[in-house]
Amino acid sequence: MPGPRVYSKRRIPSGGFQHRIPKIVHAAKPARDGKRGRSGGVVLHPAHPAVVDARTLFPGSVIGADESPRLLIDGFNSRKVGKRVTKGAWKGMPIFTLTLEERAACPRSCAQWEACYGNNMPFARRHRLDEDLIVALSYELGIKQRQHPGGFVVRAHILGDFGSAEDPDLALTYVGMWHVAFQENPALRMFSYTAHDPASVIGKAIRALNILFADRCRVRFSGRDMGSEGAIVVDDVNSSRGGVICPAQTGATDCCATCALCWSMDRTVEFLRH
Ligand code: SF4
Repeated sequence: MPGPRVYSKRRIPSGGFQHRIPKIVHAAKPARDGKRGRSGGVVLHPAHPAVVDARTLFPGSVIGADESPRLLIDGFNSRKVGKRVTKGAWKGMPIFTLTLEERAACPRSCAQWEACYGNNMPFARRHRLDEDLIVALSYELGIKQRQHPGGFVVRAHILGDFGSAEDPDLALTYVGMWHVAFQENPALRMFSYTAHDPASVIGKAIRALNILFADRCRVRFSGRDMGSEGAIVVDDVNSSRGGVICPAQTGATDCCATCALCWSMDRTVEFLRH
């Protein structure tokens, strides 16, 4: 006599423990009219107002810190980042993300100025980088320190950077806030990428974070093959220059939380071109 038939429960698809959103694999699309990159990413015309005026393609998604319910968002909401670190020195720490406005908070020297992947993120909540944000972020980092005294990680700048080189005072004030935050919040860890020139005044202030807080901060300089502080783009896996290709892009790991390479290895991280 056959046993009872057991039906599995219906479940809403999710990304599992690390993230809310299931992994979506996009088929590569050919470039078309110069509007889309190899994987379908939007590339803006150099004369597009968002490119010329240094702003996002979605100005309605930008809010000030005083309007935002929170600046630091649980990494569970980010498919690429993940919720909690599973390996390495930061193992067990929860991850939070910070999103600024792309281009407005970036140096124009960024190689992805027209092809920023923010062009494909209409629903991201972007925060305006200004004095209000600096004060509010400092406050939220203090709260996270109290909530997670054993350690927490901020993936800074899902979009955006440490500020525009055209407003160096604001950019340096913002970088200075991170310096103070590391001093005041021993639980704080941070990793990010920047398009600033490491030899510029702003770039040197960012590098100082890496040096002064070497175990807790790792900002990599985009487009620079400089080992522990470098991040470059390569066309394909055969074009590797001796660094390590992001394992999340090759399917060797799930997300940053399960990888940890960007803040732990001494080799340049290589990203496959979109
Ligand atoms: S190398 Fe690892 S930590 Fe760096 S971006 Fe890729 S998945 Fe994230």
